[in-house]
Amino acid sequence: MSIAITGAEILVLDADHGAKPFTADLLIQGDRIIAIGPDLDLSQADQTIDGRGKLVMPGLVNAHMHSPEALYKGRYDNMPLEVWMLYAYPILGAQVLSPRLVYLRTALCAIESLKSGTTCVTDDVYESPHQTPEQLDAVFQAYDDVGLRATISGHIVDRPFLDTIPFVRDFVGPDLAAQADALGTGDAKAWLAHCKEAFTRHHGRSGRLNFMVAPSAPQRCTVDLMQAAMELAEAHDAPFHTHILETKMQAVTGPEFYGETLIAYMHRHGLLRERTTIAHSIWVTDPDIELMGDARCSIAHNVISNQKLGAGVAPVRRLLDAGVNVALGSDGVSTSDTTRMFAVMHAAGLIHNVQTPDTAYWLSAPEILRAATSGGAKSACLPKTGTLEAGHKADMLVIDLATVPFTPRNNIANHLVYCETGSSITHAIVGGQIMAQDGTCLHVDEAALLAELREEMPAFLAQHTKTEAMNQAFEAAFWQAHKKANACDIGLHRLGQEPAWLQ
Ligand SMILES: [Zn+2]
Repeated sequence: MSIAITGAEILVLDADHGAKPFTADLLIQGDRIIAIGPDLDLSQADQTIDGRGKLVMPGLVNAHMHSPEALYKGRYDNMPLEVWMLYAYPILGAQVLSPRLVYLRTALCAIESLKSGTTCVTDDVYESPHQTPEQLDAVFQAYDDVGLRATISGHIVDRPFLDTIPFVRDFVGPDLAAQADALGTGDAKAWLAHCKEAFTRHHGRSGRLNFMVAPSAPQRCTVDLMQAAMELAEAHDAPFHTHILETKMQAVTGPEFYGETLIAYMHRHGLLRERTTIAHSIWVTDPDIELMGDARCSIAHNVISNQKLGAGVAPVRRLLDAGVNVALGSDGVSTSDTTRMFAVMHAAGLIHNVQTPDTAYWLSAPEILRAATSGGAKSACLPKTGTLEAGHKADMLVIDLATVPFTPRNNIANHLVYCETGSSITHAIVGGQIMAQDGTCLHVDEAALLAELREEMPAFLAQHTKTEAMNQAFEAAFWQAHKKANACDIGLHRLGQEPAWLQ
């Protein structure tokens, strides 16, 4: 199968071309771009897209998303992470979802992502009490059917939940603590076996889908599990994906638990590597940033989620200057309520400007676009993805430039970051196949899937409402712990360090 796009404005987004488009033809053969240039011989193409008046750019890469939260879209507001987690990731009474509901939930995210310009996603998937092979199959099947490129995890926590957050045991009564502790922890050995099987069954599936390891966070997982996960990631050339320093509570956690920052802890245990992606990276210190830059690791900058939970702002300019690869993520569908990456780019383009009058610290539209494309691809260990070059994966968007967001037209990078919403996309191409066209996913019946999900929701929510009531018993204690962490000397002072984003 080959596709020709004729006479389009091509935005390569590699290091050489910056964010300036040029007019050319583009030829796709199989799942790759085979040529970009003026007046290509396109006579053999199976399908031709008239690119005149259109922009062709790399598809967007969402470097951090949690599809399980899709069932809570629009449900919660005005809670910090530690309190919100009680409801979105309940300690008591979490439901075990059928593979079909897992499929529908994932398809919902994949459909929204594809239609709004995301062609590649990193989906960090937690199931309670642990992910089964059937649930993981359902996630892979949904991405396979809708047609995204996806890197999918089994997320794990293998420390007792109340031991993952400082101070909560001071405030949770003995009965509740006993109930929480009775649930035990994720089984590291079983999880590693599950991951090994997942690599065998799914890694490289359909040429678009990969598995990755995602130990939740260094305060939520044992170091033995994290090191074993890193070994697996190395063996399969897969990402090692984790969460670090999202909240002030987590800035307290390193000094409280380990007597060092969580980044220093990762470094000391050999877990800070080029294949490491750190979601958030807000409360990092200057020495942390140096360690991260030396490792050439990646961060996922989840700017909408971070605002919703009041977490803070990642010091992106400093991370970029240190040599850290910066990617953008929506984060979970409960903490940003959408997977739309044009919204994430817009927010990322604005937030840094209110931190300081020093414009050198602000991000430019081309920097945002690179983070949302090649930055995300690098964090997913997908080297030939995220730019438009011969030999690279044919993942791209065709965008109509005659629409309101591009009229009148000035600087194209600024239009993409600040004006476009995804509504001008005419074609989303993934792995050389047109997966969505004119707002419709071509390979699934969107209306039927959404109708089926709506049918499932009353039963799910009836049970979830009971689960919320059970977990509300913890809320006062979690608020107290949150307040203590936010009021106290954050412990970094004891280490002689300050969080970079507050300097
Ligand atoms: Zn996350």
